[in-house]
Amino acid sequence: MPELPEVETVVRGLNDTVAGRTIVRVRTNAPKTSIVTGKSFGKNSFSSILKNKTILNVTRRGKNILFELSGDITLWAHLKMTGRFLYLDSKIPVDKHDLAIFDFDKKSVGYHLRFNDVRRFGRLRLFANDQLWQQPGLAKLGPEPFDISLEEFIRLFRSSSRMVKPALLDQSFMAGIGNIYADESLYFSKIHPRKLTNKISKRKLTELRLHINKILKKAIKHMGSSVDNYAGVNGKPGTYQKYLKAYGKSGEPCSRCRTKIIREVIGSRAAHYCPRCQQA
Ligand SMILES: [Zn+2]
Repeated sequence: MPELPEVETVVRGLNDTVAGRTIVRVRTNAPKTSIVTGKSFGKNSFSSILKNKTILNVTRRGKNILFELSGDITLWAHLKMTGRFLYLDSKIPVDKHDLAIFDFDKKSVGYHLRFNDVRRFGRLRLFANDQLWQQPGLAKLGPEPFDISLEEFIRLFRSSSRMVKPALLDQSFMAGIGNIYADESLYFSKIHPRKLTNKISKRKLTELRLHINKILKKAIKHMGSSVDNYAGVNGKPGTYQKYLKAYGKSGEPCSRCRTKIIREVIGSRAAHYCPRCQQA
């Protein structure tokens, strides 16, 4: 699943391509669950609401993508497993997994935006701005890793007694981190994924916060990790996967101590870690 660095890369790609553009037509070919419109729009369709709306800006909150539109409405997108936004030559034949196609004013002539989703867990949702932040999925998001101070970070970890790996994956604990960057951050900080959040020392929490920041920033610089079908708006995969030290490396030697990285299910998700280095 795309995580903070991948979603941030997509958001930057969208700002480079479609921000400032006015939508002239939207075609959808999506199951009902993929596209949701808020109650305030009544029976108006997704396509009719979006017609003639201008994309003012595109922002990110956690793994959520927010298209701020004229008319005080927001298109809220979540890529989930395989969702992708692709800015493509409109002559490229439509794919059966293109669930929505956005055509723009003449400044975009020859190109349009597609929301493509093979597994169809992704969501496109439209809400009036005054309804948006009450929606489940946005209302209870935890802090952004780049915004949280060390004091707040320590308080957050002290406030619960749960295993650190599942805590990092919980979007209401902290927003934006998923399996890849949780495994990598714990590896670099030498923290065992089962360690309880309130039992991690202040020194280790200081390191963890620094590593989370450093790893996410480096991954953004490399346009994210493409370990599945993830690609940026330009269709290009990310390259951070070549820097991964723990995620997906089970059976390979630890880069520090040469002990084999192990894969273990913790809190229903696979965790990858070095059993020798990550004991704290
Ligand atoms: Zn090791």
